[in-house]
Amino acid sequence: MKKNRQEAKRIARLRRIMRERGIDTLLVTQRENVRYLTGFTGSAGSLLMGTSGRTVLITDFRYKEQAKAETSGTRLLIQKKDHVSTIKAAADLFGTDILWFDESSMTLDRVRALRKQKLRLRGMKDPVAEIRREKDAVELTLIRRAIRRAEEAFRELRPRIRAGTTEQELGLRLEMLIREKGSRRAAFDIIVASGRNGAMPHASVSGRRLRAGDLVTFDFGAEADGYYSDITRTVCVGRPNARQREIHGLVLSAQQNAIHAVRPGIACVDIDRAARATIEKAGRGKQFGHATGHGIGLMVHEAPTIAALSKGDIREGMVFTVEPGVYIPGWGGVRIEDMVLVTDNGHRVLTSLPREL
Ligand code: ZN
Ligand code: ZN
Repeated sequence: MKKNRQEAKRIARLRRIMRERGIDTLLVTQRENVRYLTGFTGSAGSLLMGTSGRTVLITDFRYKEQAKAETSGTRLLIQKKDHVSTIKAAADLFGTDILWFDESSMTLDRVRALRKQKLRLRGMKDPVAEIRREKDAVELTLIRRAIRRAEEAFRELRPRIRAGTTEQELGLRLEMLIREKGSRRAAFDIIVASGRNGAMPHASVSGRRLRAGDLVTFDFGAEADGYYSDITRTVCVGRPNARQREIHGLVLSAQQNAIHAVRPGIACVDIDRAARATIEKAGRGKQFGHATGHGIGLMVHEAPTIAALSKGDIREGMVFTVEPGVYIPGWGGVRIEDMVLVTDNGHRVLTSLPREL
């Protein structure tokens, strides 16, 4: 396979968007965007792209060899003095002083420094995020790998989930298992929330020991070549009681209703609505106070957002989570989170761990 073939396709797609919007030269600064378009995985780098066909990657001495090895078809510019003056030198190569940039990823400080270089800066909504919403075949392979690693790790953890173990022990063990499966890191700080701690949607881990009859929420994910997974399961230590079964059943039906609604063309808000309406009908609307889901890929949280105020529609190729929950202060909580791929005529659930209590 030709090196960076996928990246070349992404760049071609971005160029079409740039032409449509009258953008001649785009400065790409967000690390994940640079990686997506060039294959360069270093932590310091900017990419200058012109509609003319030229691309220049600007990085520093530390990453020279790495950038050479990871990219192709992109001119490499190693900074001499500082990053900003090298961006100016790159702009000179393009014969322009107007640079468009993504407003959500550049600091005001950097914008000022570039203006001092006599560059005219034009902020815009990130056009790379727009194409990153729809995953290509290479990305789907890596996302599936990240899911497999997380699921295998959780399956191996399950026998250890019992009374007397602390949340911390379980969180640490799960992180180790995820890394043993090949991930460079867990996707984010793992959540293990047992008993009353489950009432906090973003609890971390504590020294609390599990007791018989506790509900325990695990929210975790793995990594594969820069791509992430994000899964939540709520399990019971021993036999669940009637109330636990009721709340779990409610969250599961809210989640399944939302998943069933997923297909190209449906509005993001309507998926959120499907989950929220189910929980509201049971009189527990106030106990579900967060968004229903989020896109995931090179970042754990990326476009699209599946929430009550979301704008935009679902498109084929999107991958996002569906994760409603019910949180009852003083009692605990239940959340179930799966990852869904939008297909040409519906959806496919990518995660496969059992959802029962
Ligand atoms: Zn999660
Ligand atoms: Zn999530």
